[in-house]
Amino acid sequence: MIKKPFKDIELSRLGLGNMRFILSDPDNGNSPIDRPKAHAVIDSAYANGINYFDTAYVYNGGDSERCLGEAMQKYPRDSFYIADKFHMHANPDYEAVFEEQLKRLQTDRIDFYLLHCIMDGNADEYLNSGCIEYFLKQKELGRIRYLGFSSHAGTDTLRRFASYRDWDFAQIQLNYYDWFFNTAKEEYEILTERNIPVVVMEPVRGGRLAKLSPEAEAILKNAHPDWSTASWAMRFVKSLPNVQVILSGMNSLDQMNDNLNTFSDDNVLSEADQAVLKEAAECFRAGIVVPCTACRYCTEGCPMQINIPEYLKVYNEWKVSGGRVDMDLYRGVVSEGTPDMCIQCGACAGICPQSIQIPDLLKELADAVK
Ligand code: SF4
Ligand code: SF4
Repeated sequence: MIKKPFKDIELSRLGLGNMRFILSDPDNGNSPIDRPKAHAVIDSAYANGINYFDTAYVYNGGDSERCLGEAMQKYPRDSFYIADKFHMHANPDYEAVFEEQLKRLQTDRIDFYLLHCIMDGNADEYLNSGCIEYFLKQKELGRIRYLGFSSHAGTDTLRRFASYRDWDFAQIQLNYYDWFFNTAKEEYEILTERNIPVVVMEPVRGGRLAKLSPEAEAILKNAHPDWSTASWAMRFVKSLPNVQVILSGMNSLDQMNDNLNTFSDDNVLSEADQAVLKEAAECFRAGIVVPCTACRYCTEGCPMQINIPEYLKVYNEWKVSGGRVDMDLYRGVVSEGTPDMCIQCGACAGICPQSIQIPDLLKELADAVK
C-alpha cells in the first residue's frame, strides 16, 4: 500500500469507507451491520496497510461508528486514523454528539474530524452555530487531531467555506465523470489554491463507473486489457497531486484486491491514458444522457410553466447515477409546474432544436418520483 505524508504523519492513499457495509438483514435497512463480514473487511484493510478509516455519526444510525470502534480495539491506537463527522441536521447539539461518538468508537480522540455535508443551504448554519469554535477547542485538548469538512456545495459556497479558516483537509466528490462534465475540477482547484489537501469520496460514483456501456468499456480495454473499469476511475483520482486519501467502501475481496493492486505503486495516468479515459467517458455519456443545451426555447410555450431544462438536468443525473432520482435535486428545481402536470401537448418537443422527446422524458421522471 502506497502512503503519502500528511503534516507529521503518513496516510495510506486508499482509505476504507464504512458507509456501505452489509447488513445482518439486507432487506431491512434498519438492521445492524453484519459484524463478522464487516470486521473481515476492516481486518483485511488493516492487514494490507490501509490506515485511514472513515465513518460518520449518521451512517447506519450510529452502528457504523460502533462496528468500527469494536473492530479497531485489537490494534495499537497509534497505528491507524479514524475520520468521523458531525452532521448539523442529524443532531445540532455538537457537544453531545462528539461525546457520543467517542463512546461509540471506544476511543479518546478522533484523528480527522469533519463538518459533514456542507451544502449551499446549510453552510451558514455551520458557520454561525458555534460548532467550529467548539471543535477547535477539542483540537487544542488533543481530542481532535485535524479539522476539516466534507462538501456537496456549489463552487461559490465551497470557495467561501474554504476561505473561512485554515482547514486541515476537505472531502469532496471527485471522479473523472464529475471532473469532465460537472464541477469537480473547479472544486479541486478551489481547495488546491488554498493548500487544503483533498480526501476523495465517490471515486467510482457510487459504483456507476465500475461498469460502463459495452462501447465505452471496449475503448478502455483496448488501451489496457488488464485494467478493470473501476481501476481506471481510481487511477484517475490517484494521479491528482493534491489528492491525499481516496475512500472506497469495499465489501468484497475482489474489490479489495483490485484496489490493492491499483494502490501498489505511485504510477499516474499518462496523457495518452487521460485522453482514452475522456473518450470513453464521452461515449458512455452520449449513450445515457439527454443532450439539452438549456437554450430554453421550449419553456415559453409550455402551458403548465414547467422548467423543462432544469428537470432534464435532474433526469440526466438520475440516468448517470443509475439508482433512484435524487429527490433533493428534484425538489430543488424552481418551477411553477412539475413533471406530473405535463399534459403531453407536445408544444415543447416541436420547438426543441435537439429533437428531444420532452413529454416522454417528463412522464418517465414523474413516474419515477411517484
Ligand atoms: S408537453 Fe408538457 S412540458 Fe411540453 S409544452 Fe406541453 S405541458 Fe409543457
Ligand atoms: S428546447 Fe430542447 S435543448 Fe432547449 S432547453 Fe428545451 S429541451 Fe433543452
